[in-house]
Amino acid sequence: MTLTPGQYLRKRREASGLSIDDVAERIATVPRWAQHLRRGWLEQIESDQMPASFNTIVVLHQVMQFDLGVLVALSVEGRDEPRLCVVCACTETDPCVGHSGPCSWVDVDLCSACFTHEPADRIAIIRSAAAARDVAA
Ligand SMILES: [Zn+2]
Ligand SMILES: [Zn+2]
Repeated sequence: MTLTPGQYLRKRREASGLSIDDVAERIATVPRWAQHLRRGWLEQIESDQMPASFNTIVVLHQVMQFDLGVLVALSVEGRDEPRLCVVCACTETDPCVGHSGPCSWVDVDLCSACFTHEPADRIAIIRSAAAARDVAA
């Protein structure tokens, strides 16, 4: 599965159960920015209209869970593609942790947490969207 850095951050935000507003609210380190401005800025990063700066990435990493190594791999062309869950974009170094411990792979592109918690038809929709994106890329 190919993701842009913005798509990766968006998936990890959604997997953390956070809305853009939630993240905007938690990023209190940029006090000059009104919340609605932070919101637009996050939307630009997630839609890859603006690359996240190092400082931004550090701040985001404090409020939501993602893997810095994966973000780097997705940002640098020619790197090996990291193995990501198609639904939540977790990785082996950044697994979902639930009641039954960290997730594992149940399929080449699907983790056990999503396999357990997501309805099969939703997984199918996400997979076909990801496949369409890979063809377009
Ligand atoms: Zn998953
Ligand atoms: Zn997982």
